[in-house]
Amino acid sequence: MKKLIIASNNSHKIKEIKAILREFPVEVVSLKEAGIDIDVVEDGTTFMENAYKKAKEIFDLKGDSMVLSDDSGLMTEALGGAPGVYSARFAGEHGNDKKNNEKLLKMLEGKPFEERKAKFVSAIALIVDKNTSIKVQGEIEGYIMEELHGEGGFGYDPLFFVPEFNKTFAEMSEEEKNSISHRARALAKLKEELRKVKI
Ligand code: IMP
Repeated sequence: MKKLIIASNNSHKIKEIKAILREFPVEVVSLKEAGIDIDVVEDGTTFMENAYKKAKEIFDLKGDSMVLSDDSGLMTEALGGAPGVYSARFAGEHGNDKKNNEKLLKMLEGKPFEERKAKFVSAIALIVDKNTSIKVQGEIEGYIMEELHGEGGFGYDPLFFVPEFNKTFAEMSEEEKNSISHRARALAKLKEELRKVKI
């Protein structure tokens, strides 16, 4: 069976992606399971550029496996799309959710609800072989709250309010978030595209 390497060691993401790809005849493995330890520089200007770059570098390293990579983040309208591709390191230190949230709140201070529009974006690139790759993107729109709400999720979840649910991502169950999230939407599109390709 052909191997599909997920360009991540994030167990959360791997579990979600493995479940989605269950119907396909591929052995899904993490970077670690594939014995790869590389740090790809995410210097693209879009989520898709970063996702594709990472997938391509790993594909070129292995050659015989399919490689899936995703890049995601938050974009706010009032800040011209920021934090965007800098979402994970918005406040300087990679992955410091608390500082990132504080910085975002500070930059939106005083803005009324209707000017706090935002969206989460997930870009996924899958390299099937040297001639075939699939690129899909999922988005979910919402608003940035004035303070943190909820304990679940990660990253900007406690600030991201979804009107249809009247909750932030952090107040939703995992199931609720997975039914509408940017990543779930991108993965649904990926599944559709994969069905059209011969693996
Ligand atoms: P990456 O795609 O793992 O590089 O994630 C980039 C950053 O975007 C994360 O560190 C979070 O700050 C933010 N992010 C991406 N997806 C989500 C989400 O579902 N909830 C909250 N924050 C997210």
